[in-house]
Amino acid sequence: MLTQYVTSAVWAMAAMTESLPCAISWSVAAFRGGVCGASRLHKGLRRQIRREIGWSLLSAGIYGIPAGLAAFAWQAHGWTRIYLDVSEWPLWWLPVSFLLCLAIHDTWFYWTHRLMHHPALFKPIHAVHHASKPPTAWAAMSFHPWEALSGAFVIPALVFVLPLHAGVVLAVLLVMTVMGTTNHMGWEMFPARLVRGRAGQLIITASHHQLHHERYNCNYGLYFRFWDRLCGTDRGLGTFAGDASALKR
Ligand SMILES: [Zn+2]
Ligand SMILES: [Zn+2]
Repeated sequence: MLTQYVTSAVWAMAAMTESLPCAISWSVAAFRGGVCGASRLHKGLRRQIRREIGWSLLSAGIYGIPAGLAAFAWQAHGWTRIYLDVSEWPLWWLPVSFLLCLAIHDTWFYWTHRLMHHPALFKPIHAVHHASKPPTAWAAMSFHPWEALSGAFVIPALVFVLPLHAGVVLAVLLVMTVMGTTNHMGWEMFPARLVRGRAGQLIITASHHQLHHERYNCNYGLYFRFWDRLCGTDRGLGTFAGDASALKR
């Protein structure tokens, strides 16, 4: 029974990791530049994308194991604090717990990410992710197994600590995958008004993470710019080659 949960979680992670980048990046590319735009986006990157898919499939396997263990603990033993009845906790807890999960994940990511940029750790652990130049949507989970392991336990661990509605857990997983994908897509999909506006001061989009892949020593965050701003590692927004609407501040 345990192996069934783990296997299902691994398959679900693999499906999400591979199909979402495909669906998002091709539909946005096609929307902005037609079929030609979609094919231009990945021109000359076939080998890199194949490599990214290989690493991200391995990462999906690593992420799926703690996710399957948590699902087993929830369903078979009731050991987690996941709840299904919305009235079990106050309604305000739904958005608060959602934001809290993102803030905790973001904090963990920022500090482990900075640590992985230490010269002693960069080459053996984090260089795989930075081998994507320019990153594509499949780079979101293109990690060395050690790096995948560093992030795989965060959300599964939270379901044992915080009371979380099952819908909140799903929403957090969805935001994690969608933001990871869009932040590596190779262009900015959100309107300039949002990226330049107040929301863009707080939330990380592709323009922000693009600069991390270009300069390496800045913009380490995952969802929010909070830690980068606090620690003086925020260098603003990057630009995309060939993108007329690229933003720079
Ligand atoms: Zn990245
Ligand atoms: Zn990095």
